Amino acid sequence: MNKLLRSIPWLLAAALALPVNTSAGSFPAATVKVIDKKVDALLKKMTLEEKVGQMTQVTIDVVSQGSDGRLEPHALDQAKLEKAILQYHIGSIINVGPSFYSVPHWIEVITRIQDVATKQTRLKIPVLYGIDATHGATYSKGATLFPQSFALAAAWDPDIARRVGEITAYEVRASGIPWNFHPVMDLGRQPLWSRFWETYGEDVVLASALGTSYVKGLMGADMSAKDKVAPCLKHYAGYSFPMSGKDRTPAWIDERMMREYFLPPFEAGVKAGVPSVMVNSSEINGIPGHANYHLLTEVLKKEWGFDGFTVSDWMDIERLYTRDHVAESPKEAVRMAVMAGIDMSMVPLDFSFYDLLLELVKEKTVPMARIDDAVRRILRVKYLVGLFDKPYPDTTLQAGFASKEFTEFNRKVAREVITLLKNSGGTLPLKKSTRVLVTGPTANLLSVLNSGWTITWQGDDEALYPKDKPTILGALRTALGEKNVAYVPGTSFDKPIDISAAVAAAETADVVIACLGEKAYCETPGSINDLTLDDAQLRLVEEIAKKGKPIVLVLAEGRPRIIHRIVDKAQAILMAYLPGMEGGTAIADLLVGNAVPCGKLPFTYPKYPNALLAYDHKPLDSADGNTYDPEFPFGFGLSYTTFEYSGLKLSKDSYTMNDDITVTLSVKNSGALAGQEIVQLYVSDLYRSVSPPVKELKAFAKILLQPGEKKEVSFTLKPADLSFVGKDYKRIVEAGKFKVQAGQLTHEFDLR
Ligand code: BGC
Repeated sequence: MNKLLRSIPWLLAAALALPVNTSAGSFPAATVKVIDKKVDALLKKMTLEEKVGQMTQVTIDVVSQGSDGRLEPHALDQAKLEKAILQYHIGSIINVGPSFYSVPHWIEVITRIQDVATKQTRLKIPVLYGIDATHGATYSKGATLFPQSFALAAAWDPDIARRVGEITAYEVRASGIPWNFHPVMDLGRQPLWSRFWETYGEDVVLASALGTSYVKGLMGADMSAKDKVAPCLKHYAGYSFPMSGKDRTPAWIDERMMREYFLPPFEAGVKAGVPSVMVNSSEINGIPGHANYHLLTEVLKKEWGFDGFTVSDWMDIERLYTRDHVAESPKEAVRMAVMAGIDMSMVPLDFSFYDLLLELVKEKTVPMARIDDAVRRILRVKYLVGLFDKPYPDTTLQAGFASKEFTEFNRKVAREVITLLKNSGGTLPLKKSTRVLVTGPTANLLSVLNSGWTITWQGDDEALYPKDKPTILGALRTALGEKNVAYVPGTSFDKPIDISAAVAAAETADVVIACLGEKAYCETPGSINDLTLDDAQLRLVEEIAKKGKPIVLVLAEGRPRIIHRIVDKAQAILMAYLPGMEGGTAIADLLVGNAVPCGKLPFTYPKYPNALLAYDHKPLDSADGNTYDPEFPFGFGLSYTTFEYSGLKLSKDSYTMNDDITVTLSVKNSGALAGQEIVQLYVSDLYRSVSPPVKELKAFAKILLQPGEKKEVSFTLKPADLSFVGKDYKRIVEAGKFKVQAGQLTHEFDLR
């Protein structure tokens, strides 16, 4: 029988429509009850000015010395600080000056801010300080800096993500800062986008699992604990899918695609209890993120019951007027944003938002109820994160900052993310006696392993990087011995330097290690016109290949730059992503076999610039001569050992809507080395009323196997895991035929 017909009785009984959360809040009800009593009491005492001040956020430059607040070395300006807090009652300060501060300086900064807020004001409301700690405490000198998110995703390991969250929280809070503008829950489905590396890759299930584990690490069981911080999900929602590929340009995402792909990771984060959400800086379907009532109020606050607060992105409220042309004046922009559901404005360079919002409330164009709602949400979070009890930094945390344990864990993480994409003829691992030529623009820099949000915004000030962390070249010299490692730069990122010298040096090497990729960048300055890797770097490899020596490509890049021209010229390819401060060491560890690679791509690595298709595309995308023909598919990654999959079976052949679906299979290590394998379970809904993706990741597990060892892996799915967004944009499950797939094994089943 046709599957749709069979699903009709269910639809009539409304049993297939999955429940939508309309009332339950996102924080535990008991917590809200306790906190809201205090919040309400405080709200009653607050003047309108104090309330509007809580909704106002400025950058640290506004309260720092120097005409633009950027004098170095950094120092707060007491008069400016008092003006911001005593005259404008501001509730939040963010960011860093031109570059990172030492932990003691952070402690001094936060202490002085809280001194004014809690000792010189009537109501003693602490300031909420926020920072972009995207891969560790990025703006604290000497911090443990992990692989950036898209790299972290390649470990496919929620436990690792959680521990990264815990260590990040520890070091951020050791710096006196209680609020982290991370994780980015946007999906990386547009590889041109310069913020691709801030995402957890292209898949909903993987990104949701890793993002929620990471936030649990940041928050712990109690966000007010001395070593925990409040996360911020960003950039809600659809920011990551610009049609042009350029940062902060329009996206066109209909309601179904939004609900199928771009909203679920945010919803998962909200359900995990994340207390703040930053808004999409761009526009969707012609509606700027900061004016989107539907997404901010109807979906986030009403449908998902979000109890926390929303914060604008940098200057984005005034941009409704200056850039987006949807507001006719700066004042109208403020009204639009606040009425759309924005609770706090990252103004952040002046107090204009405060002045304009005050006028709007006095004129009654913004109702007091909206102000009270916004301030209630902000104060809740200040209570949750423990600021009223402990507004000051806990100086005892300094002792454990960047500890040996954290560094060792970071090295383990970097080893587990780096992904082996090609290894013909067992080129890798290298014998310790191998003589190598190291060449290419990413060989001898730390900035290329860390990229944006590292020490500075763009992460490109190499001189500020620590001197005790090795680059790829430095780590290889340690691993293979100085005498076995020759180095010729070859090219800069986009220009030849001494390609002929590199070619000549290849003669005397056993293996050439070509370190390619991108310079550090962040946000809009990282926009590109062509996903293809720079011609100079491709030529470097083509020229060296003429010598016939084995070539290993090491790719340090924030998005999958196209390398099709040189894939066949290389015997081995190691995708290093942006592996963080221990990246050099981890790359060398893998190259020489001190560790066995286990990372898998969390995104599709395209072969051609005009064929950018995600793995979970529609049948139509790979029909009638169209193909999903990437350079390397989503989920792909090799090891130095081999794994055999067998015995894929299901608990039954046919299930009802109330059943658990248990899928089991066996995986055997058929090689000679111990290794970890990431087992991925995909499901295909074979026929349904809205065209299905060809397959979707539903579950995954990471297992360690000794040589010859075989383990059974079992996954449990609920029929709800097979749901999709139906014709009326509601999530439904339809009965019918499904196929599960793990490795090359497949099995079909019926859902009745
Ligand atoms: C970015 C945000 C960031 C904010 C504060 C903005 O430009 O889009 O991701 O959190 O700046 O630094």
